[in-house]
Amino acid sequence: MQTLQLPSGREIPLLGQGTWRMGEKASQKRAEINALRLGIDLGMTLIDTAEMYGEGGAEQIVAEAISGRRQEVFLVSKVYPFNASYQGIIKACDRSLSRLKTDYLDLYLLHWRGSIPLSETLKGLQHLKQVGKILDYGVSNFDTDDIEEAESLPGGKEIAANQVLYNLMRRGIEWDLLPWCKQRSIPIMAYSPVEQRAFVNDSKLKGIAVKHNATSTQIALSWLLHQDNVISIPKATNPKHVKENRSTLDIKLTEADILAIDHAFKPPSRKMSLAMR
Ligand code: NAP
Repeated sequence: MQTLQLPSGREIPLLGQGTWRMGEKASQKRAEINALRLGIDLGMTLIDTAEMYGEGGAEQIVAEAISGRRQEVFLVSKVYPFNASYQGIIKACDRSLSRLKTDYLDLYLLHWRGSIPLSETLKGLQHLKQVGKILDYGVSNFDTDDIEEAESLPGGKEIAANQVLYNLMRRGIEWDLLPWCKQRSIPIMAYSPVEQRAFVNDSKLKGIAVKHNATSTQIALSWLLHQDNVISIPKATNPKHVKENRSTLDIKLTEADILAIDHAFKPPSRKMSLAMR
């Protein structure tokens, strides 16, 4: 699996697996565990979860999926903003670690900005890093002004990633956030990279898809994988989707493909505020 380097020097896989909506229905449990295991077998060892997903249920699914193979996995979880006070984040992290049945996270993110001062959250994150419960920390849903502010605070220079909504239909970050992060080698983690199935019947990608013997969704994901400094974390429970997402890494888009895609899905021509789910 190709990787990007975090500012700390640690490597993060380019393509991983999301877990939103997992751990919500008992009837789906086996399929979700199997999908994550299949993804790991195929090299998609980055797993993105959050205390929010299924109110801890997704972390429990992940625990079962990675049981016996923690060392193979790059594990990411996120803290609710209302748990991100100094003491609150330490406790929330312990709860996540216990649900995930592990003693460390590779990356811990503030899920979105709330009302607790960032300086306090950063203090908590620094503590967690010092005691080895997390190896890196970062943010999510931070627009340029937010991450600039966070970066200027004590501990802010260690921000290792920003997880945001980014895909062909949501290109706003290319105006300023993506270049800002790239300049500092802070990877962008693109969430909802396949826009929750919105590309499945996309006629604008069909021609390129046929040429590459792929689906329109794969072309949309492939386009993201061709972007510099961007990690993608599609969520898939269907094993066919897991395999398709993995094989997207083998698609090599041509310059003509990229031009046609830019024509169909225009890059931003002005600052747009960050889109979120
Ligand atoms: P997504 O990955 O864009 O889309 C997931 C949906 O697409 C699922 O219904 C899945 O179906 C389907 N799918 C996946 N691969 C496919 C393929 N190759 N062909 C056709 N359909 C495919 O959306 P997401 O779950 O919103 O985002 C991904 C992850 O990002 C989340 O799971 C979560 O970990 C993270 N996230 C973070 C935030 C944040 O605020 N930080 C917000 C949203 C998401 P099946 O499940 O049936 O296979």
